[in-house]
Amino acid sequence: MRVETAACANVVGIAVLRLMDSCRAVNRCRRWLHYTAGPLIRAGYNGRCATRRQRRPRSTNMSWFSRPKSKVKPLPEAQSERVVRTEGLWFKCEECNEILWKKVLEENLSVCPKCGHHYQVSARRRIELLLDEGWQERDAGLVSNDPLHFSDSKTYKSRLRNMQEKTGIRDAAICASGKMHGQPVELCAMELQFIGGSMGSVVGEKLARAAERALAGGHPLVVVSASGGARMQEGMVSLMQLAKISSMLAMLDDARIPFISILTNPTTGGVTASFAMLGDLNIGEPKALIGFAGPRVIEQTIRQKLPEGFQRAEFLLEHGFLDAVVTRHDMKRYVARSLRRLLNKPAPTPAPAATPDPAAPATA
Ligand SMILES: [Zn+2]
Repeated sequence: MRVETAACANVVGIAVLRLMDSCRAVNRCRRWLHYTAGPLIRAGYNGRCATRRQRRPRSTNMSWFSRPKSKVKPLPEAQSERVVRTEGLWFKCEECNEILWKKVLEENLSVCPKCGHHYQVSARRRIELLLDEGWQERDAGLVSNDPLHFSDSKTYKSRLRNMQEKTGIRDAAICASGKMHGQPVELCAMELQFIGGSMGSVVGEKLARAAERALAGGHPLVVVSASGGARMQEGMVSLMQLAKISSMLAMLDDARIPFISILTNPTTGGVTASFAMLGDLNIGEPKALIGFAGPRVIEQTIRQKLPEGFQRAEFLLEHGFLDAVVTRHDMKRYVARSLRRLLNKPAPTPAPAATPDPAAPATA
């Protein structure tokens, strides 16, 4: 009797376990039954749940709940990287310490929108800011031939080559013919990034040729200076450029053709000592450093403390070395208006307002 009862219990137990086994929701119940039903049931259920550590693989065809498959395709590993690169997008103003977005600074013509500090801009950008569209670059192919075969820490030729690769221009000035508010002009802008905007034989030649074109065409000449002075690698040849440009400017003066000099930060050395200060109008940008020797050298030479704002555009304006200090935003309008006055040309008349058509029916 006990044997029959045990066998019956064994069969029933196995059936119950197999039924429950297909149902994940009652796995706990099955496990409880497995551990509490005793060795008799475990013996009949041999091989499936024989040991406590052995686990059956989960059933996949009888789940109560199913998770819908996502329709969104996962991104590749490289694209799914959630990193936003902000390096180089922000800029701390050296004057007011304000944190600025570089794009805002560029849209504001590289002038700090908080304090008005004027940052340097490239020669090409200067020309774009001052001339109307459609200007034409001149003498772009002129290259220095290293007249002294100069070499310091590295050869002058390799220095020139590096600068040409870095800036994309052949020497430290870009000259262009174009129009400024409709007035034809010859414009030259110096590139400070090219060996400190130093003036060598190429810069001198480009400026002299621009003056020749101005003389031939009767157009005004405008030069935007940004320079550390004469180029020491060309020695005496660079110093000769001072006389060459100055003599060309004298010829413009004799022909009563205006020459406007715009001095930006910094304009020093031989450039200040020659053509930059020979304009019919000498215009400075706000707080531009303008001088021959630097303030530190002067202070050490004369052994005196220099006054506040010494060699800055506002200081020079106050002491009669400059005619005006004009912001970058107003520069084109100011120069164009000055040229019209120097050339005795009338101001451009505004476009006439649209006149009503007499044939049109009057409205009440
Ligand atoms: Zn600022």
